[in-house]
Amino acid sequence: MTGEKKKKIIKTIRIDLDKCNGCRSCELICSAFHADPKYSSNNPARARIRLIRDPIRDVYVPVYAGDYAPAECAGRDKYTIGGKEYDECAFCRASCPSREEFKEPDSGLPLKCDMCEGEEEPLCVKWCLTDALVLEEREEEVDDEVVEEEEQEELELGLDSLADKYGLQKILDAVARMSKKD
Ligand code: SF4
Ligand code: SF4
Repeated sequence: MTGEKKKKIIKTIRIDLDKCNGCRSCELICSAFHADPKYSSNNPARARIRLIRDPIRDVYVPVYAGDYAPAECAGRDKYTIGGKEYDECAFCRASCPSREEFKEPDSGLPLKCDMCEGEEEPLCVKWCLTDALVLEEREEEVDDEVVEEEEQEELELGLDSLADKYGLQKILDAVARMSKKD
């Protein structure tokens, strides 16, 4: 591909498990930030980060919501940490049909970490007082077409999941109603 090059900021949140004390402030602020209206409620089920906790063994693992997976995977992961075996897929980041994690509790729509779009710094990073979560940024050159393809894929996934949930006709009716209002 020989398209135009575009600068893209890649944001990474570095997670230091040794520093996490399991306080769950990250879940709390994420769910409040994504409430509608913003900060009107606090429901950890709405958070794009979830904390896997085993206080007896002092194990705390923050897991961020990643991409939506329309189908269950055939191969699964099972972790044992400090002698404790965790549920299948416990640390998986996907919102997928085989489990309830990372789904908006009211609509069932998939949740994905958006790095707190519009905020200078992700709020979970800001609220993590132990610095278990640290933001790192770097600049990369990518093909303009790749950025457009990624944006298009995200839009299609969102529309697919809305259509799965409410049916295609309802979505089309809602769009038709909205365009009449303009
Ligand atoms: S806010 Fe930080 S210390 Fe608290 S649970 Fe989240 S990652 Fe761990
Ligand atoms: S970066 Fe923002 S959206 Fe992502 S988990 Fe943290 S608070 Fe939630």
